[in-house]
Amino acid sequence: MSELIDPFGRAVTYLRVSVTDRCDFRCVYCMSEHMTFLPRRDLLTLEELDRLCSAFVRRGVRKLRLTGGEPLVRRNLMSLVRSLSRHLETDALDEITLTTNGSQLPKFAAELVEAGVRRINVSLDTLDPERFHEITRWGQLDQVLRGLDAAQDAGLKVKINTVALRGVNDEALDDMIRWAHGRDMDLTLIETMPLGEIGVERADQYLPLDEVRRDLERRWTLIESPHRTGGPARYVEVAETGRRIGFITPLTHNFCESCNRVRVTCTGTLYMCLGQDDAADLRTPLRASESDEPLLAAIDEAIGRKPKGHDFVIDRTAPMPAVERHMSVTGG
Ligand code: SAM
Ligand code: SF4
Repeated sequence: MSELIDPFGRAVTYLRVSVTDRCDFRCVYCMSEHMTFLPRRDLLTLEELDRLCSAFVRRGVRKLRLTGGEPLVRRNLMSLVRSLSRHLETDALDEITLTTNGSQLPKFAAELVEAGVRRINVSLDTLDPERFHEITRWGQLDQVLRGLDAAQDAGLKVKINTVALRGVNDEALDDMIRWAHGRDMDLTLIETMPLGEIGVERADQYLPLDEVRRDLERRWTLIESPHRTGGPARYVEVAETGRRIGFITPLTHNFCESCNRVRVTCTGTLYMCLGQDDAADLRTPLRASESDEPLLAAIDEAIGRKPKGHDFVIDRTAPMPAVERHMSVTGG
């Protein structure tokens, strides 16, 4: 079995799979209010998604993350998770995990655990119900909080992802830290990234995390942590709580040199970098043959042109988003 090594010597061991572009929320930094979604016939079936993920596992991928859109609104998603978990049993995979807005966790938390999921990321930007509704447009905070209870009751380890938004949640980050750490959850702060037209000015929302960190340091003791998850987050430990805060800073600090991941959409398009438009169509080779050989060849060829890094900038003088597709296409 050959591994996936890109032209810069980086091994690709992590696949993020957007299982749907649809969502029950319309977060202001992610989607415009009136989104046009893909026609259902363009989506890969769950069986095709399984075949696609399994081909990557054959090529040495050790970690799968299901994302979206909202992964838990994809009908019958649990059957995909259960089926992929066979790779956990054979030790071909280390982990299957999920990034979710939490709204459907009351329904699915226990099943996720039964299917072999141990950790999930839940995205939550504020604890204020009205603010929450403003940010997500369609979401209800109490439903997400019930989802978190269900997840923790079922034994899932939860990490909270929070997008830092100027004038929206910058004043409330202390509360988020106290709350998340008080519930034994780490918290990762994320800078907004310029993906897709969203109908508002991104430069108004954009809050550089080095500014946030300087501000937090006035009230908290942040100790540099060697903790790494193989992802882009850099961590500090908060002395007062004993738990970690992660910072994902694509704009202020580039982390591409250690990139170990690629992303595939629900239509089988492989993006070798979140911040670049270059992509490879895997649906055609997937459907062309019952054998996985054409698919594996297409994956190998695509990894051979994984770029060195992204070109994100958020700048009032830049008229267009850095890439046209929305975050919900690739799932972050
Ligand atoms: N619906 C799920 C959720 O919200 O967790 C999974 C998909 S969502 C696209 C994945 C992550 O991307 C979420 O944490 C969300 O906050 C983040 N995100 C969405 N748009 C973003 C943007 N423009 N910049 C930075 N993060 C973004
Ligand atoms: Fe949906 Fe997640 Fe995008 Fe919010 S961030 S609109 S929950 S996909």
